[in-house]
Amino acid sequence: MNTYDVAVIGGGIVGAAVARLVGGTTLSVALLEARDDVGDGTSKANTAILHTGFDAKPGTLESRLVARGYDLLGDYAQATGIPVERTGALLVAWTDEQLDALPGLRAKAERNGYDACEIVEAAEVYRRVPALGPGALGGLTVPGESVICTWTTNLALATDAVNRGVTLLRGHRVTQAHVGPGATRLATTRGEVTARWVVNAAGLGADALDALFGHDRFTVTPRRGELLVFDKLARPLAPCIVLPVPSSAGKGVLVSPTIYGNVMLGPTAEDLTDRTATGTSEAGLRFLREKGAALMPRLMKEEVTATYAGLRAASGHDDYLIDLDAEQRYLLIGGIRSTGLTAGMAIAEHAGDLLKGHLDLSPRAGLPAPPRMPNLGEAFPRPYQDAAAIASDPEYGRIVCFCERVTRGEIRDALTSAIPPAGPDGLRRRTRAMNGRCQGFYCGARVREIFEGEKK
Ligand SMILES: Cc1cc2nc3c(=O)[nH]c(=O)nc-3n(C[C@H](O)[C@H](O)[C@H](O)COP(=O)(O)OP(=O)(O)OC[C@H]3O[C@@H](n4cnc5c(N)ncnc54)[C@H](O)[C@@H]3O)c2cc1C
Repeated sequence: MNTYDVAVIGGGIVGAAVARLVGGTTLSVALLEARDDVGDGTSKANTAILHTGFDAKPGTLESRLVARGYDLLGDYAQATGIPVERTGALLVAWTDEQLDALPGLRAKAERNGYDACEIVEAAEVYRRVPALGPGALGGLTVPGESVICTWTTNLALATDAVNRGVTLLRGHRVTQAHVGPGATRLATTRGEVTARWVVNAAGLGADALDALFGHDRFTVTPRRGELLVFDKLARPLAPCIVLPVPSSAGKGVLVSPTIYGNVMLGPTAEDLTDRTATGTSEAGLRFLREKGAALMPRLMKEEVTATYAGLRAASGHDDYLIDLDAEQRYLLIGGIRSTGLTAGMAIAEHAGDLLKGHLDLSPRAGLPAPPRMPNLGEAFPRPYQDAAAIASDPEYGRIVCFCERVTRGEIRDALTSAIPPAGPDGLRRRTRAMNGRCQGFYCGARVREIFEGEKK
């Protein structure tokens, strides 16, 4: 059996970023993912904000890696076509106490190396976001906060990894680890995989995996965040991200444009025990509607396209938990709670710095160029709008999903890509098909038919 130099466990944004980085060397690398697709865990269901890190706890590893990740992912997005909208954010104070907190938040941002925040008066708050509910007393601008496509981010990193020679093993849930003198044997649901080094980037499963290596240092608490997605007609109501003043309970409920042209409201923050509880709840949605009614009453009159929930991997530590065990040749990347989309590439860089003392991570000559990803962003040209693309390939002129204007050509491209989707939901994340106001009611059967047809 082949022994890999490095096995990375977890095909979310963090694991994909690590596999991409290590895959750019002469080392042999496997990326093991329990599910049938990459990016099917927490990385598919978040608020998709590219954070500046202005409100992180200064001096923490998270603060440093979010700021670094913001730059790394911003550059990588440009190189690969991951859509980013530089909308900026406005943090709104609704009480005197919150208003008094603004100078402290600006000072904190500066301690985090971000000095572009400005305090603005109520009139300026309403000039920027006229649809806000009554009672705003002032605000803090955060011009760098941006919206991004989390699906394309995960897929770009994983595709890059595969193009660099990483072996992607989907449907491989790691169930046992036997650390031997020269290599670790990983028992998986699809047979054994051996590797000299193991990186644990298993998100919600990172503590269970850590325990397989004999550790007992943290417990993941799934912190559910539920969100409401409003129809595209609501988009003018949210010209930028509207943030609450953060509290000890977390970042709070925000209103944000999405990269697909919608508006979202959320997330909630609720600690659970069930790590599979990604459904929404009546109580959560009621809470969001109450919050939304105060924040932006006009938004509540708009139609809801979808609801969803994601689980943050809260760890009880107030920082990331990244630790290398040289004896076991094992690296834990745990507790990547609510900023891992932004920080993923910087976490990989940090992981690389830790591994460098033990492995030769010099970049290999002749690496392939980063993949050029299909654009899912509403603000940028899509194939159905591109006369030249349609002229050279009429499939880009055949719309299958009319809500999101997804063409037959884009679906074909996804199904024949380096990491084809395992099912219709994966196809949705690669194309936006069935992601619109009808949620697949009209196009679902056709999309499934194409999917099944291509699979044969
Ligand atoms: C509601 C919400 C809002 C958020 N908003 C933002 C935001 O706006 N900006 C931001 O930067 N971040 C945000 N985040 C955080 C961000 O989504 C996460 O930090 C990031 O997705 C974590 O990525 P990951 O790779 O660590 O985990 P995951 O994406 O969960 O990947 C871990 C993978 O490991 C696999 N796995 C687990 N156990 C095993 C095993 N035993 N064997 C093999 N595979 C295994 C899982 O199947 C999974 O695919 C938000 C999170 C939530 C929930």
